[in-house]
Amino acid sequence: MVADLPAPIGAGIYNVYTGKPAGSSVPTAAQLGLEPPRFCAECGRRMVVQVRPDGWWAKCSRHGRVDSADLEAQR
Ligand SMILES: [Zn+2]
Repeated sequence: MVADLPAPIGAGIYNVYTGKPAGSSVPTAAQLGLEPPRFCAECGRRMVVQVRPDGWWAKCSRHGRVDSADLEAQR
């Protein structure tokens, strides 16, 4: 669990790029800035992902939406 990331990308249970159990690999905000997540880190569901010219948002049907703009605001 990474304290400064929302659960759908920071829970650390599933890998946000593969949907498989994450082990200890949790992406950093910098990594997520380059490549949007595809799976919820908390439940492993495939998320709805929308990529914009300036970032992305990803939505888990159970855990809500994460926007890359929110990650940048936390830096
Ligand atoms: Zn979820």
